[in-house]
Amino acid sequence: MKNVIYFDNNATTRVDPEVFEAMKPFFCERYGNASSIHSFGGSVMAEVENARRQVAELLKADFRDKDNCASEILFTSGGTESDNAALAAALAALPERKKIVTTCVEHPAILTTVREYARAGYEVKLIPVDGSGRLDWNFAEKEIDSNTAIVSCMWANNEIGNVYDVKRMARLAHQQGALFHTDAVQAVGKVPVDLSDGEIDFLSLSGHKLHGAKGIGVLYIRRGVRFKPLITGGHQERGRRGGTENVPAIIALGKACEIARKGMDQEVAALSALRDQLESGIVQAIPRVHVNGDKASRLPNTSSVSFECIEGEAILSMLNCYGICASSGSACTTGSLEPSHVLRAMGVPYTSAHGTIRFSLSKFNTQQEVEKVLEVLPDIIRTLRSISPFWEEK
Ligand code: PLP
Repeated sequence: MKNVIYFDNNATTRVDPEVFEAMKPFFCERYGNASSIHSFGGSVMAEVENARRQVAELLKADFRDKDNCASEILFTSGGTESDNAALAAALAALPERKKIVTTCVEHPAILTTVREYARAGYEVKLIPVDGSGRLDWNFAEKEIDSNTAIVSCMWANNEIGNVYDVKRMARLAHQQGALFHTDAVQAVGKVPVDLSDGEIDFLSLSGHKLHGAKGIGVLYIRRGVRFKPLITGGHQERGRRGGTENVPAIIALGKACEIARKGMDQEVAALSALRDQLESGIVQAIPRVHVNGDKASRLPNTSSVSFECIEGEAILSMLNCYGICASSGSACTTGSLEPSHVLRAMGVPYTSAHGTIRFSLSKFNTQQEVEKVLEVLPDIIRTLRSISPFWEEK
């Protein structure tokens, strides 16, 4: 498709052409099984270990095992599997504890899973948020207790972009002897992540959110933390995840992490400038709009904007006519009639929540693209409001 203006990077990102070049030889030339004894496969394993090192360097997870490999990095099929594996491993590591504490704004990869644990008899507590999506720390302090096995708090929210103080949450968990997991799928590559202080026990990331390939992710497991595999089978990944390694995607993830590490400072500055230009342009040109989230602590690329009295889906389909891709709420809940659980948790009124659009930018976006959105959006909103039964000119 030509002339697409892609502002839906929290749903997925374009594979960086440099990343694509790096992974290409592993389809038709170096296709050996990384776990094979012969050198055709064995030489591929060396590349897998190099990718593991590249991931560890981005996370500052610089612990080495006897082979000089970053053994804290476990390759998985993506963020969802990593989240599931972390919860399962923590509950298995502390079987006498029967409580899970997480937040009400997590991705469904966590929320749906903890609901299943609640059905199985675990006590599950969801930390609420205020109108800006900030966590209720008093609630967290009260609920994280000696019966808690795992506390899971996302590093950054996929819908509103809030960045949370996960190290503070990890300390609360550890004070009570609980393990701590963070879903950093939206944070890695967009904000600095430094695990060298050993405060985080588990961290999830996903390749396709940082210009890598789809179907690959990582679960960081701090050295010394007991880990029970979620996927059992062969001895791949040091016996921690069965299944033939997805070599091209692993190579892609390593490269994507290396690029993110080297370009992060520059990228963050450029992204926040574009995001601010987009937001201030919208707020200036269109009445009765609200920017959601915590302006003091959020991702540089995410802007969640509520337009009163119209439907987000209608805005999206009109933007689509101009080749502009965005999202209403999170991609995973698009299509459902309910406003997103995040906006509901924040208490955003229904008339605004229904008209919420998430613009999520990447390094491939340009100022011209932002200008195009600002050129067409005011007319789209005016048109939709003119036919909305809920809209009254104030
Ligand atoms: N966690 C968060 C915060 C996400 O935004 C997503 C994807 O949207 C996931 C987890 C799931 O990641 P994956 O698509 O790699 O399974």
